[in-house]
Amino acid sequence: MKSLLIWALIMGTINNVAADGALGTRLPWEKVIDHQEWSQATLRALPTPIYKPSQTRYESVRGKGPYIAFTFDDGPRPWTNQVLDALKERNLKATFYVVGKEALYYPKIIKRIADEGHEFGNHTFNHILLNRDAGPTALKIVEHEIRLAHETILKLSGIAPLTLRPPGGRFTREQDRWLQDTFGYANILWSVDPGDGRSVKPSPATFKKRVMSQVHNGAIILSHDLWKSTVAAVPSTLDALLARGYEFLTVSELLALDDPYEVVQFTDEDFKALQQDAAAGK
Ligand SMILES: [Zn+2]
Repeated sequence: MKSLLIWALIMGTINNVAADGALGTRLPWEKVIDHQEWSQATLRALPTPIYKPSQTRYESVRGKGPYIAFTFDDGPRPWTNQVLDALKERNLKATFYVVGKEALYYPKIIKRIADEGHEFGNHTFNHILLNRDAGPTALKIVEHEIRLAHETILKLSGIAPLTLRPPGGRFTREQDRWLQDTFGYANILWSVDPGDGRSVKPSPATFKKRVMSQVHNGAIILSHDLWKSTVAAVPSTLDALLARGYEFLTVSELLALDDPYEVVQFTDEDFKALQQDAAAGK
C-alpha cells in the first residue's frame, strides 16, 4: 500500500512536469560552454571546453596535474549553506549531486549553488538504486528518476546538471552506455571516499585524514552534505587540500582534461576573441 502511494506521488509529479512540456529536452555536451561561468584562469588551464567525455564512466581523471573535483551528494539540506560559505571564503568551486526531491524542498539553496558558480550533478529524484532488472518497466522508472531530477534542477536553477552519480554508485556498464545516449551524461563515481556514506560517521578529523591519505592528481572526492558531521569537516579538509597544492575544478572541467581530441590551450587573445564573439551575439 505504501509503495503504491509513493508510486502515485512519483507519477503525479512526472505528469505535472510533463504538462509544462519540458520533458525530452536534452543538453548536448557541445552546449556546456553556454551553461557555465568559465573564469579566465580556467580557460587558460583547460583544453577546449567543447568536448564530449571520452568514457561513459569515470572514477578519476588521472595524470593531468594537481586537479581535483570535490563532490557533495544527497542534498541540499539547510546546512548545505555552511558548505557554500566555506567554498566561497576560499573561492573554490564544487559539484553538487542533488536529489530532485530535496531540491524542491530547498529551492533557495539550489539558486545559491547556481549563483555562486558551482556545478550540478544528477543524483535521481528519489535517491533510488537504479541497477534493477532491465525489464521495460524498470527502465522506465530509471529514466523517469533521472529525467525528473534533470528537469527539477534545470527549472529551479536555470542550469542543467551535466553528469549522473547513481545512488550507491550502482549502475551497470550497459546502463552507462544507455545513459550517454539518452542524457549525454557520463556516470561519475569516485576515487576518494571518506566513508561518510556508512552508518558510523567519521569525525571531522577522521574525514580529513581519510581524504588526505587517498587524494591524488585527478581525484574525484565523494562526500555527503546530507550529514552535519561532513559539513563540520569541510573547512579544514579544503584548507589541507589547498596547502598541498591542489586546484579545485568542477567535474565537467575535470573531464575536459580527458579530452582525447585536439587539445587547445586558450591564450589571453583567445579569451578576448570569445568575449567579443559573445558581445556580438555570435
Ligand atoms: Zn546518495
